[in-house]
Amino acid sequence: MAITAPRGTQDFLPEQTADWQILEAKIRQICSLYGFGEIRTPMFESTELFLRGIGETTDVVTKEMYTFNDRGGRSMTLRPENTASVVRAFLEHKLYGEQKVHKFYYMGPMFRHDRPQAGRYRQFTQFGVEEIGSKDPAVDAEIIAMAFQLFRELGLTDLVLHLNSVGCPKCRPVYRQKLLDFFADKRDQLCEDCNERLEKNPLRVLDCKEDGEKMMQMGVPLITDNLCDDCRDHFQKVQAYLTSIGIPFELDPRLVRGLDYYTNTAFEIMYAPLGAQSTVCGGGRYDGLIEEVGGPSTPGIGFAIGMERLLLTLKEQGLLPPVEKKQPVFIVALGDEARAKAFCIQQALREKGIYAEIDLMGRSMKGQMKSANKMDAEYTVIIGEDELASHTAQIRNMATKEQISVPLDGIVAYMETHKKG
Ligand code: ATP
Ligand code: MG
Repeated sequence: MAITAPRGTQDFLPEQTADWQILEAKIRQICSLYGFGEIRTPMFESTELFLRGIGETTDVVTKEMYTFNDRGGRSMTLRPENTASVVRAFLEHKLYGEQKVHKFYYMGPMFRHDRPQAGRYRQFTQFGVEEIGSKDPAVDAEIIAMAFQLFRELGLTDLVLHLNSVGCPKCRPVYRQKLLDFFADKRDQLCEDCNERLEKNPLRVLDCKEDGEKMMQMGVPLITDNLCDDCRDHFQKVQAYLTSIGIPFELDPRLVRGLDYYTNTAFEIMYAPLGAQSTVCGGGRYDGLIEEVGGPSTPGIGFAIGMERLLLTLKEQGLLPPVEKKQPVFIVALGDEARAKAFCIQQALREKGIYAEIDLMGRSMKGQMKSANKMDAEYTVIIGEDELASHTAQIRNMATKEQISVPLDGIVAYMETHKKG
């Protein structure tokens, strides 16, 4: 049986990677505008890092990780996300010693044993940022603005920013208890998953795709009505910053991340036409995470964008520009001697930074001319028997059809002054 790519993985052929490269270039441009530097961490880490850094009760850790023992018997996991690794690197390189804000971005593959479908894969690619070191609400607003500018410059509209605050270890336990009290006599009205969530991670019940709406109607207490003064103040400032730069948002009290190290701002950016996979960007503040992973208490915030989903969105909206094809100088050569010359000229052109091609399929003169047309050559250089005898070549401008004779050792210089692309 033929071997195929593993379920939930994809090959991207050169025409498709061209779309990726456009997106990657735009991302890098925005990152540099906002002062973020790229960080690259390993594809796999000690499993322990993700247990602590993502949390043992999350779906990612309980159901989705690719975990294996290496030959030394150590438990390793293919990274399901990148925040934990960035935090590990931050600590390993003792960057907390410098009193400043650290701004990292990353782009790369993540691995989760998800159920494959459109917009959901087992190997997928995230672009994300982590801004570590400051609690200032301007930081929260700046990274949201950054995601928005990226989307806007890609031409995307119709994106909705959902915003919430999940409080802090001071106000959240009080809220958690309120939730438990509220549901104490209503547990039979909740789905099985929610009953489990109430045990392990009560805040996540509001996130329920089945019953979330119903709970709102039941009058479930909301975190935003139960924030302590500091958290309320932070949340209001984030909103004020966003408003001041014209970024619209919807307050969404059901948007929660229940783990203790998530604090304050939580947000998602959705593109509704993607249906069940409509979240293009998810992010939040994690002031307790660095301590959880073993470092000194340090605030941080980040987001991650699913790049496949973003590309699907761009494609759906017709926002991917047509792939720009480079036009070569195509050297048509007949006979062994001409061919040997053509090979050397091709190399000399390339070394001057000029895209050049020759025939590699043993085609006739006519066939080679056809190839030149197919490749949309800007110039065709023709070296036939007569030309060889007189040490010249015919250079044809494929757009104007003008043809001139140039000495063989003058072709590179000619192209340097004439070739546009
Ligand atoms: P979902 O609810 O869709 O599973 P998530 O909460 O697991 O998303 P995050 O961990 O917040 O997602 O990851 C950030 C982004 O990465 C998501 O918003 C999405 O765009 C993308 N993403 C997550 N899982 C996948 C996947 N299996 N395939 C493709 N993209 C994904
Ligand atoms: Mg998921």
